[in-house]
Amino acid sequence: MTDQLPRHTWLEGPGVPCPPHPDARARPLRIVLLGAPGVGKGTQAELFAERRRVCQLSTGDVFRAAKAADPCLRTPALEEAIGYMQRGELVPDATVVDIVKERIDCLRCEGGFMLDGFPRTVAQAEVLDEILAAEKVRLDAVLKFDLPTGRIVDRLSGRRTCPSCKSVYHVEAQPPTQAGVCDKCGHALVQRDDDRPEAIRVRMQAYETSTAPLVEYYASKGLLVSVSAEGTPEEIYARAAAAVEARKAAAAAPVAT
Ligand code: AMP
Repeated sequence: MTDQLPRHTWLEGPGVPCPPHPDARARPLRIVLLGAPGVGKGTQAELFAERRRVCQLSTGDVFRAAKAADPCLRTPALEEAIGYMQRGELVPDATVVDIVKERIDCLRCEGGFMLDGFPRTVAQAEVLDEILAAEKVRLDAVLKFDLPTGRIVDRLSGRRTCPSCKSVYHVEAQPPTQAGVCDKCGHALVQRDDDRPEAIRVRMQAYETSTAPLVEYYASKGLLVSVSAEGTPEEIYARAAAAVEARKAAAAAPVAT
């Protein structure tokens, strides 16, 4: 796991302030990440978090943190969200938006932010626009990672995870030293049910259906930056970071008259 910033307010709620951002920038990075399951978005988010010192604001992480926390500390909105997540359904827009609004300090953070898993629908994107406009904060880019479905199936169906320490391997691309055993804690590795090829195709279809309108939405605003997710994590990161900088530079350039 990489050296992430603390994210107390995002993960634990508005009553738990973060320490001041260690290296606030004059022009911090403010981006949204999009990408189908298995495209490598999580790895790229970790690289951006580590290298650009920007918090990864994942709504899925908020729900998982709430699930792991003392039930007495959960707000009714989080309690409801956990139920939807456990059933594998999307949490209703109004609930997600309430939870994000409670964490508005993270969107105001002078260190910037990297939204991951939010927005997931056009309705959520519209509310995000309203929140950011009220805060006078602009998105730099919406970064979308692209990979053909066949390659995603290859990647996910070879993935093995450690149920104990959560380390992730790939039978070909990143095998453990001893087949089927976690290098870090020695636990037996497992294949997640949703990493089996039939389940992957269903997940891909669900992603395409729910995210396609969001892609259109951000493309029409000129914010969408698509990056190929082929290659090593370092190659993809180099491509993604360069694409975001190019988008930022273009947005900052004076308009020719
Ligand atoms: P993720 O880690 O992004 O895959 O999210 C895990 C689960 O949390 C999803 O399967 C949904 O149940 C829920 N979830 C996370 N973010 C959202 C969102 N923006 N809108 C609706 N449901 C969400």
